[in-house]
Amino acid sequence: MEAPEMMRIHIDQIPEQGLILEFAEKADVFPILANMMKSGECTFLSPIKTSLRAIRIGDMVEVEGHLAAVVRLTCGRCLIEYRSPLESKYALTYTRLVPGFSEDAEQAEVKLNAADMGLIYFQGEEINLHDGIQEQIVLAFPLNAVCKENCKGLCPICGASLNDRNCDCVRDSTDSKFAVLKNLKLK
Ligand SMILES: [Zn+2]
Ligand SMILES: [Zn+2]
Repeated sequence: MEAPEMMRIHIDQIPEQGLILEFAEKADVFPILANMMKSGECTFLSPIKTSLRAIRIGDMVEVEGHLAAVVRLTCGRCLIEYRSPLESKYALTYTRLVPGFSEDAEQAEVKLNAADMGLIYFQGEEINLHDGIQEQIVLAFPLNAVCKENCKGLCPICGASLNDRNCDCVRDSTDSKFAVLKNLKLK
């Protein structure tokens, strides 16, 4: 899918004091997010809003921004679905010149090396924020999705959610055994 026009910046249009942009995009315009939704990993309940400032420094464009969205995730412990805000601040550096590479160097190699240096390589007069922002949204997802910090999860025997009630199952107290082991190790 073509990146929406809004996510492209013509570098000549960046004024000295920087260019401020704000936009809201549906998650579908980002292929990785579209796939996450298809596979049931998450549902976006809002558009992805981002505001950013782009500043041109020679052959580089520094982009600093903030993004926010609301998603529905599945709790990894009790399996209920819950709403979760996603929010993050990001900084992306786009560059036309990568140290150690001439203009006629192999593009794929220049790109890789730029990425190693934390830079995003671009050619021509335009930068495309689409991939960079998509990556930032993916990074904004929690590593372990839990509906609440103290979610008690499911009973491994009857499957009841222990957040709602305590079932009568006799559960192996793995936690305390583990604690004993831990204490032994420390001695
Ligand atoms: Zn939970
Ligand atoms: Zn139970």
